Amino acid sequence: MIIPTTICYIRNAKDQYLLLHRIKKKEDINAGKWIGVGGKIEKDETPDQCVRREVFEETGLRPKKFFCHGVVKFISDRYDDEDMYLYSAWDVEEDLIECNEGELKWVDRDEVLNYPTWEGDYYFLKPLLEGRKKIDMIVEYKGDELVRCEDITEDVVTLKSSLIDCPHGFSTRTGGVSDGIFASLNLGMNRGDDRLRVIENWNRFLDSAGVNNREFVCGEQVHENNVHIATKDDLRPAYGPGEMNVCDGYVTNLKDVPLAIFIADCVPVLLYDRENKVIGAVHCGWRSTVADIQKNAVDKMVTLGSKEKDIAAAIGPAIGKCCFEVGPEVIEAVEKLLGGEAFSFYTRKDEKYMLDLRGVVKERFIKLGLKEENIEFVGECTMCRPDRYWSHRYTKGERGSMAAVIALQD
Ligand SMILES: [Zn+2]
Repeated sequence: MIIPTTICYIRNAKDQYLLLHRIKKKEDINAGKWIGVGGKIEKDETPDQCVRREVFEETGLRPKKFFCHGVVKFISDRYDDEDMYLYSAWDVEEDLIECNEGELKWVDRDEVLNYPTWEGDYYFLKPLLEGRKKIDMIVEYKGDELVRCEDITEDVVTLKSSLIDCPHGFSTRTGGVSDGIFASLNLGMNRGDDRLRVIENWNRFLDSAGVNNREFVCGEQVHENNVHIATKDDLRPAYGPGEMNVCDGYVTNLKDVPLAIFIADCVPVLLYDRENKVIGAVHCGWRSTVADIQKNAVDKMVTLGSKEKDIAAAIGPAIGKCCFEVGPEVIEAVEKLLGGEAFSFYTRKDEKYMLDLRGVVKERFIKLGLKEENIEFVGECTMCRPDRYWSHRYTKGERGSMAAVIALQD
């Protein structure tokens, strides 16, 4: 059982931090300690919603700025394990109210570490006070004794295309807060990972892609060829609410409608028409590819004003010819799609074939009128680099998901 909580260190204009001296609550495991403000994340709350609620309830403050540094995971032989979402907040105008859990005190930055608290707290507080942004740690106690403190912070690695100059990216496994088989940047919402950690992973991925909106368009992918023209009605935050789309591709010409698809070996494609400001995100597994989802995506962009010659395609990390073994039925379908060109994208290996699906996708876009110089491969074979990417085949399905996202915005 993991208890999710938030803690927030609020800074005022005098560079003082708000500490709560826990002396009022009965049976408080934090009794006598000086700590930040926060509490348990309620069911259906996100960490962001929890921290705003807790800060207001306990202090009367409504800071205008909040920043989530990351997750400090507490492991204990005495209490339940805890995922603590660590926040800074600033830009406060209101006066403090009386807090029913203890006494609130503004403390100069230089003095904060001198106030008695849990031994492990110094390890995340020190970098926080020094202005470090990302802080992910594992802190382990036996009784009240600190036995381990591990800084597991990694930068988010998001791959970009040189052909696309609006916010976009292909995620990798690196820089998230999930653990176990989902370590660490899992963006999949239906794979059994912890909801709150996936939300934090999405926040990090969207930030690294340069996307401002926290709502985006995604849905259930069914390996067919349907492409949907997305509008603001399709927007939803990670985990909803709102109805899920059921399709494998999206296009739009609207600002602040980020388009997202999930992948873990299938070919992700981001489309971008710089002239007419039309974008697309397409999930090209082999079934969608031979059903010609590429044509549906390009046709839908054309209905929004694009010309084929202006459309750039970034083809992201996917299983490569080195690893993608397929049966003859797949090769037959590729031959139907590409005709005589198909043979350059596969080789025979005993009774099976090795298929270059990214090559097939690129060739199909060229046939549809995209210029070769407007098509770029980004990233490597997912199955060759399971340390870097989620590969469905490598993990036999025990895995998280990557995503690709693209957005038009001011
Ligand atoms: Zn490979």
